[in-house]
Amino acid sequence: MIHRIYKFPESVLKKIARPVENIDGKVVSLLEGMAETMYAAPGVGLAAPQVGVSERAIVVDCDSEEEKKEGKGRGLLKLVNPEIIQAEGEIVWEEGCLSVVDFTAEVNRAARVLVRAWTPDEKEIRLEADGLLAVCLQHEIDHLDGRLFIDRISRLKRDLYRKRVKKLQREGRFDELAQKRPTASGI
Ligand SMILES: [Zn+2]
Repeated sequence: MIHRIYKFPESVLKKIARPVENIDGKVVSLLEGMAETMYAAPGVGLAAPQVGVSERAIVVDCDSEEEKKEGKGRGLLKLVNPEIIQAEGEIVWEEGCLSVVDFTAEVNRAARVLVRAWTPDEKEIRLEADGLLAVCLQHEIDHLDGRLFIDRISRLKRDLYRKRVKKLQREGRFDELAQKRPTASGI
């Protein structure tokens, strides 16, 4: 099932998502629908609040075309209650977001992360990541804490973006731009 993707400034994106207490059929089908929605967008990651569900669940697939072809990547990851338990180094990445219409910006992130999470079949896993996958995991876990990448840029830039959104909404152009494919990796 393809979900509607909620867009800034909708309020569900600002809420701290609650932990999943039970990995039941509902959570499993939510993750399936989220993966479908992410691929259709297209994007490389999606968090449950982006489809209007304030629960700690994310999907990511950051494999390049080449990795996909050779079957060498990590494939689709569906993670429940993901948590960063170690982070090191620094990386600057041009980020976009399926919930932030028509805007990208450079964001500082940790270069490498160790994430603990649960899989849909109730296994506790640890995941080491660097590069795009590390960025993507931090971006998605931010969503679970009610934070968008525009909360990590300067206040001036954020205010300018906020004003632009209001103007686009006033002019009735927001929805049309929201349909456009993301210009950077949509996460
Ligand atoms: Zn995002």
